[in-house]
Amino acid sequence: IHGNDQSTAIRRRIILFPLPVQGHINPMLQLANILHTQGFTITIIHTQHNFPNHLNYPHFTFKSISDRFFEVANQIPKGDASFFVKYLNRSCEEPFRDCLTGLLAEYDDGSVSCLISDALFYFTQAVADSLKLPRMVLRTTSLAGAIAYGALPFSSENGYFKLTKEDSNYEASVPEFPLMKVKDVVKMTTNPEGMGEFVTNMLNQMKASSGLIWNTFKELEEDALETICQDFSVPCFTLGPFHKYFPASSSSLIEQDRTVISWLDTQAPKSVIYISFGSVARITQSEFQEVAHALTNAGLPFLWVVRPGVVPGSEWLEPLPEMFLERVGDKGRIVKWAPQQDVLAHPATGCFWTHCGWNSTLESICEGVPMVCSPCFVDQPVNARYVSDVWKIGVFFGG
Ligand code: UDP
Repeated sequence: IHGNDQSTAIRRRIILFPLPVQGHINPMLQLANILHTQGFTITIIHTQHNFPNHLNYPHFTFKSISDRFFEVANQIPKGDASFFVKYLNRSCEEPFRDCLTGLLAEYDDGSVSCLISDALFYFTQAVADSLKLPRMVLRTTSLAGAIAYGALPFSSENGYFKLTKEDSNYEASVPEFPLMKVKDVVKMTTNPEGMGEFVTNMLNQMKASSGLIWNTFKELEEDALETICQDFSVPCFTLGPFHKYFPASSSSLIEQDRTVISWLDTQAPKSVIYISFGSVARITQSEFQEVAHALTNAGLPFLWVVRPGVVPGSEWLEPLPEMFLERVGDKGRIVKWAPQQDVLAHPATGCFWTHCGWNSTLESICEGVPMVCSPCFVDQPVNARYVSDVWKIGVFFGG
């Protein structure tokens, strides 16, 4: 706050720019709420694709920019996050620059203290520099995930990406990050070249920023924090877990089916397996059917989030094995999207079969729910290795 007289003081304004996917929007909006409670005025710049419901945030100002995402929406290759990231970094640059320039002209009293951009929007560093606005970065994964990204050689030249299940080295540790096996690294991307390019851009622009904010906490990642502080010579702030201050439900892009809570109320303590693979991961029809068979064989109550589109080519439940729903009866619930934080906090939930997205991992850790880890891509294999082999609060499951 400027000045001594509180009544005429200018509140400091922060402009935030989330990446338009659920696992990035949730922590950015939670961070915005945390900053708001600290007295900051909040403006959110968002893309037209995937934006949060403004009505849940009457205390924020929103500005929308064009992203032309619809041009490529149906072309995203499975397992290649770099396609989406690189496209948005190109398509958003001009509209973002125009929007930010307009905002700085509108708030011309010097009240804007900084931009907080998602780390994956690496183009924003140059824009902020040209407008002489400090840029802070929110990195929405674990510190360990960031270290692994920096250490692993992503390139099609790298032999790891050529190995298959049949190769004897497939189960071997990788020297660059020995906690991980070759099969984990292979899982991270179907396009190592593209991944390498986006990771390099992201890490360089994180190093060029004015500071890094992480949704994690020191007690969980003390060693990694030391490494990160050495590697990135900019201030680092571990402010998480954000969801303990503000729930993710208000930034949910899909309506959460709250009827699951009254169903959980009828179940015995710690008896229910909760299954979700997050908002982006896609699995094959046979993997989906394996999940169904495993649930039938386990014979335990389950709550399964089947996000429409999780199996490419299927609308929703068509790939379920015949008679599956009849066989499980009241023992199982399948929904399109759940109030995950409340599910994990519910006394009936005994275990989380997860893809190990960082938000899911953190939410599960905070509720003390053990995990079965079946990572799909990007940072998920790193998180899964930490859960199973370092923190020992879950088991790694899946080839
Ligand atoms: N989530 C939810 N309902 C669901 C599944 C997930 O609200 O049925 C939320 C979850 O609580 C988390 C986010 O969606 O905050 C998913 O983020 P994460 O990093 O775990 O995975 P991603 O979707 O990015 O792969």
